[in-house]
Amino acid sequence: MSEEPRVSVLEEDASSVKVRITGIPIQYANTLRRFMIAEVPTLAIDSVAILENTSPIYDEVLAHRLGLIPLRADPYKYSGDCGGSPCQVSLVLDAQAGDEPRVVLSKDLVSEDPDVKPVSPDIPIAKLAPGQRIKLEAYARVGRGKEHAKWQPVAVSVLKPYPHIEVLNPNAECAAAAAAACLPGVLRYSKDALRVRGEHRCRLCMDCVKACPDGVKVEERDDDHIIYVESVGAIEPKRIIYMAARELSAQLEELSRQLEALEL
Ligand code: SF4
Repeated sequence: MSEEPRVSVLEEDASSVKVRITGIPIQYANTLRRFMIAEVPTLAIDSVAILENTSPIYDEVLAHRLGLIPLRADPYKYSGDCGGSPCQVSLVLDAQAGDEPRVVLSKDLVSEDPDVKPVSPDIPIAKLAPGQRIKLEAYARVGRGKEHAKWQPVAVSVLKPYPHIEVLNPNAECAAAAAAACLPGVLRYSKDALRVRGEHRCRLCMDCVKACPDGVKVEERDDDHIIYVESVGAIEPKRIIYMAARELSAQLEELSRQLEALEL
């Protein structure tokens, strides 16, 4: 096993990231993955004061729908000590249909903190018939996915072994068959030789090894992993991994402090 854990970004876009983590056992990597789902704090609407609702949607269903709108915000601003005031953000909704039906969207929520807002302005909340109205005040607070899925920052959080591909014989007779059995972008057979193009895209299906056992070898190692994270939009994907490590570290420090107090 490597001495120092190492992290590198393999692929990244606005909503997802794929990172390679080397030097930690799979149990630690899986703990990090689980912390991304259950322990990273986010803000979500948790209570709603309905002042008027003449829409066909029941108050409870409306409150539930509001809770599921991901909010972009810095959760640490609203956790811990908020200087005596409640650690919450209020978002007001006052929407009425005129002579035409109207769809109430997430952009109709007006937040008291401009840094706390829905990740998309176009999430439908309700459809109003002419003359119907919804007026409410919603309160968002910090929570964690272990309490309710509405606080989960991730839509996907996956752990898999990093694939190590070794071309044993690039000119083997079956080398072309190995490339043909593979996904696009992983192996390539050209100029009579087999080459590795994108090792991290390999799905460890072993079809290439079945097609050409003498030409290619694929293996996984105990301390080399890929974590793929897809954010719901509330927090940047790379930051979710960092926050999971931060939360894990804080819990371990607390455990250590309590064990120390036992004077073991
Ligand atoms: S294991 Fe599957 S995906 Fe990976 S290189 Fe072989 S055929 Fe391609």
